[in-house]
Parts: sequence; C-alpha cells; structure tokens
Amino acid sequence: MLSETVLNGAVGAVLGLLIGSFLNVVIHRLPRMLEQQWNTECAQWAEELKAQGARIELPAPQKALISLSKPRSRCPHCGHAIAWHENIPVLSYLFLRGRCAECKKSISPRYPLVEIACAALFAFCLARSGLTPTGFAWCGFSAALLALALIDWDTTLLPDSITLPLLWAGIAASALQWTSVPLPQSVWGAIAGYLSLWLIFWAFKLATGKEGMGYGDFKLFAALGAWFGWQALVPIILMASVVGAVIGVLLKLGSKLREGGYVPFGPFLAGGGFVSLIWGPQAVLHAIGL
Ligand SMILES: [Zn+2]
Repeated sequence: MLSETVLNGAVGAVLGLLIGSFLNVVIHRLPRMLEQQWNTECAQWAEELKAQGARIELPAPQKALISLSKPRSRCPHCGHAIAWHENIPVLSYLFLRGRCAECKKSISPRYPLVEIACAALFAFCLARSGLTPTGFAWCGFSAALLALALIDWDTTLLPDSITLPLLWAGIAASALQWTSVPLPQSVWGAIAGYLSLWLIFWAFKLATGKEGMGYGDFKLFAALGAWFGWQALVPIILMASVVGAVIGVLLKLGSKLREGGYVPFGPFLAGGGFVSLIWGPQAVLHAIGL
C-alpha cells in the first residue's frame, strides 16, 4: 500500500534528522577524543620511562577532556552555549539563517546537510523495508557509513570504534537474515575485503615505498563485504577508484589538495556502499557495460 510506504518514509525522515544531528557531534568530536586518548597514553608512557630514570620532559597536562555528551555544544567563534531551541535539526539553521544567535558568525551549512542526508537515507531504508529489523539495520549501516566518510574526509582517519562494529553488525545482520546476503557470502565478503586491500597496500608499498591507503580502509572494505557479500567487492572498488581518481585530479587542478597531496580513500568506498545500498552492487557494473 502506497500510504504505508509514505508513512514509513516519514518516520525514517524524522528519525534520520535526529540521528543526523547526533552524527554531527560524532564527526566533530570522535577524532578529538582519539587524539586525547593518544595523548593520555603518551603521557602515561612518559611517566613510566621517567620513573625508570629516563631523562625526558613530561608532556603538559591536557585541558578539559571532551566526550560525545560533554561539554554542551558551543559556537566555535564566541563560545555561546547552544540552547535546545537553537539545536533543532535543519529548522534551527533556517530560523537562525545560518548564523550564531550570539555573534552572528556563519555556521557551516554542512550541519544541516548531514542531517538532510541522514534523513533521506533513513527515509529510503524504511520506505523500502518497512519498520522491520531489515529497515533499521540498513539505517544503522547508513549512519555509520556517513560518519566514517566525513571523519575520513576531515582527518584521514577511519576510527576502529566505528569500522569494527560495522563489520560485526554486517555479519550478525546476515546471520539473523536481516539482510538478504547468505552468511557464507557475508563472511567471505569480510575476509576478501580486508585481504584484497591489504595485498594491494603491500604490493604498492614494496613497489613504490609509499603508502597509498591506511588500515582503516581495509576494515571499511571488509565491513562493506560483510553487508553486501563478496560479489559486491569488485563493483565497489571499481567505482571508488574511478570516482576517487577523478576527484583527486579535479582537486589537484584546483590546487585544493591538502599538505602531502593526500586524498582519503574512505569517502569513496563509502560512496560505493551508498550506491550499492540504493541501486544494488551490480548497478555499477551494468553502468560501465560489464
Ligand atoms: Zn557565536
């Protein structure tokens, strides 16, 4: 029935806006939390060495630690604490006309765009599969992939705290028959996804002495294999490579490449994941005539 599809899509859109708002926090804070954790570990290590008599300087103690829930969100320009009514997904941005209520400096349009993208993905998943475990599983997949793509784009990191749960969730969803991928295909997808990029990484490194990608990419590709099955790996890697190369050349022409000229691969793998989610993994092969 059409009306039920529309209703499920609307539920997905509202849920997606809320989760998208949370993803903005994750995308912004998770890399800083990782850095904070590394600093803490380094400090502990330095203290141990010093206790053993090594002559080293202890690093300065870290400022107030952040987590996903603390402190409250603030304007990065003036420190204005963002009230709940200034934090309603998309609507607040429109109401405030993209400016901080206090200092009137502009707020990045990326915040509402992430919320809208998440809403669209959730609406799609729930309209297609209904309010079922399958529908919600693909919502979770979409949210994780969106966060990974943007964190990698910003920081060239793909945190284990997202890639590894995403991988296990894909295998679990297959075992529970929430996805239509049979369990052996899911497990082989995870194994082949990881190993294939690991092999390419080492072949490239031995041949050129350079590192073309990171271990996070292997884990993300393994996760995509777990969610779509091993058959999806070739279409996804083809698409990610072609689109990634085109964007890399465009950035180079526009000389917008960051220091070291490094374009992260994760966002393009994630892009392949989204295309597979919406049109199916084989759509890419059909599109290029295979
Ligand atoms: Zn402000």
